[in-house]
Amino acid sequence: MSGSGPGVADFGARLSFDRGEPGRRAVDVPSWAGEEAPLPDDRLLRDSVRLPELSQGGLVRYYTALSVRNFGIDSGTYPLGSCTMKYNPKVNDTMASLFGFARAHPQALAEDVQGTLRIQLELGRGLGELTGLPNVSFSPAAGAHGELAGVLMVASALDDRGELETRRRILVPDSAHGTNPATATMAGFKVAQIPTGADGSLDRATIERELDETVAAVMVTAPNTLGLWERGIEEVAGLIHDAGGYLYGDGANFNAIMGRVRFGDLGFDVVHLNLHKSFSTPHGGGGPGAGPVLCSEELAPYLPTPVVEESDDGLVRLVAPERSIGRLQQFQGNAAVLVRAYAYMRALGLDGLRAASGQAVLNANYVRALLHGHYDLPYDRPVLHEVVFSGSRQRRELGVRTYDIAKRLIDHGFHPPTVYFPLIVEEALMIEPTESEPPEAIEALVDALIAVAEEAEGDPATLHHAPWTAPIGRLDEATAARRPVLRWQEDSASP
Ligand SMILES: *Cc1c(COP(=O)(O)O)cnc(C)c1O
Repeated sequence: MSGSGPGVADFGARLSFDRGEPGRRAVDVPSWAGEEAPLPDDRLLRDSVRLPELSQGGLVRYYTALSVRNFGIDSGTYPLGSCTMKYNPKVNDTMASLFGFARAHPQALAEDVQGTLRIQLELGRGLGELTGLPNVSFSPAAGAHGELAGVLMVASALDDRGELETRRRILVPDSAHGTNPATATMAGFKVAQIPTGADGSLDRATIERELDETVAAVMVTAPNTLGLWERGIEEVAGLIHDAGGYLYGDGANFNAIMGRVRFGDLGFDVVHLNLHKSFSTPHGGGGPGAGPVLCSEELAPYLPTPVVEESDDGLVRLVAPERSIGRLQQFQGNAAVLVRAYAYMRALGLDGLRAASGQAVLNANYVRALLHGHYDLPYDRPVLHEVVFSGSRQRRELGVRTYDIAKRLIDHGFHPPTVYFPLIVEEALMIEPTESEPPEAIEALVDALIAVAEEAEGDPATLHHAPWTAPIGRLDEATAARRPVLRWQEDSASP
């Protein structure tokens, strides 16, 4: 059977090593006709290297079989809340593959890579206009990385004001993404939690009570992780500034407000965006992402290095801001991802971005309306880009957890929504359809969620053991995490 077709059934059981036959090769290496020279040090050589021995066809079939096991936005609806799994237009990739961009060397002289640098300059100007915060660094490689940059910038600014010793606290809402408190802690601050009020907005009384000369910043996600607008955020910004603190904006949910609301106009001092969310660059198995950090004039001197700047001679250059927090990674960030984001921004234009946000919001509200009554909706008001239902009724009355519902949805052909986040919603089911799903896809998703709710009533055991159709069923996650098998071993192949 070795080297046979995609072998759907044996996926996972047989890796490329186990599929080979001695002597098979995927490439021909011509024999060397010239004079043989001795190798420099034959002590360093091994007699044999264990490599999978597959024909080229066998190798292609192996990877093709693997690739169709993956679920991506190119294969189906992917309503993973807070992650904005929107369609990534192929023109982005075409642009990023252009020879001049794909082959630019990170250490090339500025004069030789003006195209790449000008794209970064113009992308930065565009994002600056969209956020109302005109100063940008593309150094952060992800949203969480952008947060760290922003909070370190705040720390440096406080240090220059002589207040870093006294301002030791950062206020973070209880609905925040886990990266917010983690960032504040990593940057050396203490986290104080702001509870969410019954209407889904920040509890104002807590903010007013907590704001004093020990507060460095408040981190606010806008719109928040419930998919709701943070009411009165402009007044909150005023209160924070009066107390001498900074307002950090988690812009991961920018997809709801592109071209409509500007963080700078609301009083935010510094914000990060997730280009791999709102700007249709790939999430790609954990990276490469881009989480540019944007800020006010006051914080601009602290931006991570480098930033792009147009000099008087018309050349675009990379420069270090004067009080920079330093470098966050090598070179200037994920340059090819920035080309993709720029292609997206230019292809849509301001009107297109605005329309995309409008459609994303409409789609989330369509989910909300269709699914209403089938699952609990703890914060029952019109939403922005996403809607957070709860499986708590199913859990209480039927013994079915949100986890079971999510796993069963796989059998219906959908990627599950985000579950158990935000933490303030019990048994949370966080659904973000994005603008790229057409109405019939949204209806099909909702039909599947309703079918699963009905199954939970009649046949909970089916949900407890789902998924049934996936190549790998329900995992023992504790064992998978504690005793992972990460390396092929000769005898590890089971049937
Ligand atoms: C995705 C997300 C983050 C973190 O962004 P990464 O790019 O995954 O590091 C932070 N906050 C919110 C609200 C998010 O949705």
